Amino acid sequence: MSAQALVLKQRTEILHALCSSGSAEHLERVLDILLAQGELTWEDYQNIQIPGRALYSNARQLLDLVYTKGVDTCELFLTALEQVLPEVQGAGFSFSGCSSNQKANEETQSTSTQSLLTQRPSIVCKLQGCIDGTLEALVKSGHFTSADCDEVRLPIHTPTQQARRLLDHVRSKGNSAATVVLEYIQEKQETGSLLSQEKGTPPKEFLKYQKKLSSSVSAQSCFLSTYGGTSQMSLDDIYTEGQLELAHNCADDCGPLGLEDVIGTAGTVNEEADTVLISGEAGSGKSTLLQRLHLLWARGAALQDFVLLFPFSCRHLNSEQRELSVEELLFQHCCWPDREQGEIFQFILDNPHLILFTFDGLDELKQSFSDEYRICCPSERAPVHILLFNLIQGSLMKGVRKVITSRPEAVGPGLTKHLRKKVLLQGFSPFGIECFVRKHHCDAAVAAKVLESLQANTALLGLCHSPVLCWIVSQCHKELLGCGEGSPQTITDVYLMILQHFLQHQSPPKTTMRLGWLQGHLQTVLHLGQLAFEGIASTCYIFSGADLETCGVTEKDNCMGFLIQSNDMSSTHSKQYEFLHLTMQCFFAALYIVLASNANRSVIAKLFDLQDMRGTGLGSACFRACLPSTDQQGQVFKEEATAAETPNLQITATFVSGLLSQRHRSLWLHCCSGAMLEKKIRQVARCLSKGMQKHFKSIPQPVQGEKKSMHAMPGFVWLIKCIYEMQESSIAKEAMSKLEVDHLKLTYCNIGPVECTALAFVLQHLRNPVGLQLDNNSVGDVGVEQLLPCMHICNSLYLRNNNITDEGIRKLIAKGIQCDNFQKIALFNNNLTDACTQHFSHLLKTKQDFLSLRLGNNNITAEGAKQLAEGLKVNPSLKYLGLWGNKIGDAGAEALASALESSKSLLWLSLVDNGVGTAGARALANIIRNSTSLEELWLTENCITRAGVECLIQALEHNTHMKSIWLRNNDLSSEEVNEMTQREPRLIV
Ligand code: ADP
Repeated sequence: MSAQALVLKQRTEILHALCSSGSAEHLERVLDILLAQGELTWEDYQNIQIPGRALYSNARQLLDLVYTKGVDTCELFLTALEQVLPEVQGAGFSFSGCSSNQKANEETQSTSTQSLLTQRPSIVCKLQGCIDGTLEALVKSGHFTSADCDEVRLPIHTPTQQARRLLDHVRSKGNSAATVVLEYIQEKQETGSLLSQEKGTPPKEFLKYQKKLSSSVSAQSCFLSTYGGTSQMSLDDIYTEGQLELAHNCADDCGPLGLEDVIGTAGTVNEEADTVLISGEAGSGKSTLLQRLHLLWARGAALQDFVLLFPFSCRHLNSEQRELSVEELLFQHCCWPDREQGEIFQFILDNPHLILFTFDGLDELKQSFSDEYRICCPSERAPVHILLFNLIQGSLMKGVRKVITSRPEAVGPGLTKHLRKKVLLQGFSPFGIECFVRKHHCDAAVAAKVLESLQANTALLGLCHSPVLCWIVSQCHKELLGCGEGSPQTITDVYLMILQHFLQHQSPPKTTMRLGWLQGHLQTVLHLGQLAFEGIASTCYIFSGADLETCGVTEKDNCMGFLIQSNDMSSTHSKQYEFLHLTMQCFFAALYIVLASNANRSVIAKLFDLQDMRGTGLGSACFRACLPSTDQQGQVFKEEATAAETPNLQITATFVSGLLSQRHRSLWLHCCSGAMLEKKIRQVARCLSKGMQKHFKSIPQPVQGEKKSMHAMPGFVWLIKCIYEMQESSIAKEAMSKLEVDHLKLTYCNIGPVECTALAFVLQHLRNPVGLQLDNNSVGDVGVEQLLPCMHICNSLYLRNNNITDEGIRKLIAKGIQCDNFQKIALFNNNLTDACTQHFSHLLKTKQDFLSLRLGNNNITAEGAKQLAEGLKVNPSLKYLGLWGNKIGDAGAEALASALESSKSLLWLSLVDNGVGTAGARALANIIRNSTSLEELWLTENCITRAGVECLIQALEHNTHMKSIWLRNNDLSSEEVNEMTQREPRLIV
């Protein structure tokens, strides 16, 4: 297809690629290139770049123009586009054959004006670091007035745009002005001070401001805020590394991510974007991680590329009612400059790459992210959420790096497209749990006991992957160690434990029996419960003294430690309060729903009917209708829904299920009416059952000949967790009795150990065996152990990319061997080494009907392959063996070949990218010669030479059932490749 036709055909996509970020940068870079190449005249350029016209209109004008200029211009345009937007190549764009035609610009550049034009792309780049100096030179030489300078420096322009406006002005001033610019750049280049020169000259007051800001950031971040209610704990003493992962797999394996990698280049998917997202569930440690970064920056121990760091909490920004400019936002919400405010802000504008903004808890903002309302002038006032959204997408303060944290639910595609990269925070690793517990207890003997009790209760250990739960468990170690058999199993158990701990901490128990501890504090629980409940229903996480009063929260209730004083850097307000953690607010809301006799009857039904309302904001609107109406809530109704409302309601519902479990009946005995409680229990059980049925009804009928497969819909895992919290096998059984599928797919569902516990609790009641696909989650070894109770109903288990080690495999296989249905396992991309192969070998020896073993992308060497070979020798059933991306080498290939030589079952074998050479190929030829079953052999990306391939060809001469041998990327010349393909078409070389 001609370039002209391509431009026409892809018009919509091109427009989108050029304009969807909202920034004119892409378009302007393309224009720079086309101007430099002489494809656009200066008049063309001025007709496209009409000041004040919409970006899309400018881009359309350009497309019309290049199209009418014909094929050559279209080719150069597509090439320029490819240069400016390398990321669109992967997005189905076609540039076919264009790049070869790029016109070299060989014309002699007779005047300076021409030079500025033909070198425009590189001059724009060079100028952006020294705009002020260039302007000064132009003023000195009499070419520019101060009005010219002001137009160039307009704050709405990014540094590259300022450079372009400067060049545009220079053009109108004649050749001698152009010469001044060229000479200035030349001089800077010679002194080596280009680009970096101007960042080194901050205004005098700046250093004072920097000091003030960093000491304020340091003071805000050195203690862990949630300990405020009980005891203060220094972040240095308690901070434990969480597990960080890139959301997009890096091409080159970048190893475990450290704190500073959050900002670094690893995993960047969109170079143009400035915003990095840290995504994690409630309590996974997002705020704490940011706090740590702030502290390290303030101390000069990290992120020193940034001279200023402005931290924001979305929770606090919610209460900003005024319209603000960016300048006001920075200075009023973070740190006020005592003098020279204007100069300091100008420095920030001039040096965006030296500035970092952090926004904690985007999910807590009352408004969901939207990029509809654009502003780009830093002095324009707007509601704070609008400022925030424009900062995130880069239409405001382009070039300033921004880090935001959020729960995954609040991040839709609208936001994702503006992200530079996404980092997942997945709580503590098993080692992290241990570190945290040891740091938390100065008494090593206590720490050892807590750890011992966690090892004995793996359901609880699984919960401790969530840092907030790890903290609770450590905090309540006395209760934990004292409760013996009744040690906590569910999240509700853990929160009940901390409830008991705090209540008794403040006023020691009159009775030692568990029965009594709640009763004595019922009013406190109800007051706090009402506050929490109304807050959840109205997306409110910060409460004023008046809010507390309305719900009857007394000074005594307040002292219990569940509420902490909210610290806001802007704090000129009167005292404000928040719950120790958002999950604690959900827990109190749930207590209120269970205990309050006046709670609206429909609350439970509405709470559990959430999955239908996901994303519509209806969830909380319906839910709010259950509140007694007051003026304040009336006002809240009108506001837009936040994306994280549903998750908060889901957490609350999970607690409601847990609190209504039969196991806790005795706790409520004297706190509320038994009949009311029964009714609520029945209601929850009914809702859960109904919710499940809805999911099952949505499963499509299978295409003929295919398996019936269910991909988990949003809300499925949540329902499963609610059932687990109730701890009623009968409900789990009832739910599963209606599920008829062959394959259950739960990929990318944020499944960690806790979810595994719940899944196993419910899925073990399935009536027919299923394939359970859990790829791309964070199951880990603890999660694997949690899955064991449902292994007997799994005929296949897919656990690709799940952080599983040899230890997890040991336990999995020990159980798998006893399960008749278990026939397939896929463990691609985990942390497996040779230490696990003995277990697979044992599995193969024991299970004579095992079908598929896939261990790709692990660390298995020749030793491991030899172990596997022991099992393979005596196994008559295996059909698929995948070892892609290990390191078995020739010795490993030889061992496998000798074990599989006369296999009658193996259909498919992959040893891609394993360092297999000619000796290995020679051995594998024996399988081809003797096996009666093998159809496909994958040997791509090895180091097999001609001699090795000769052996394979010879073996194929005696084999008619073999379909293909894949040999791409081995040690063969192109002539050898040609010759071999001609001799044996089954070789794919
Ligand atoms: P999120 O912001 O994801 O909801 P937080 O950062 O508020 O989670 O963490 C909740 C609690 O968990 C913290 O108050 C702290 O007690 C504990 N915590 C979280 N991350 C860490 C960490 N890295 N080291 C020590 N404790 C942590």
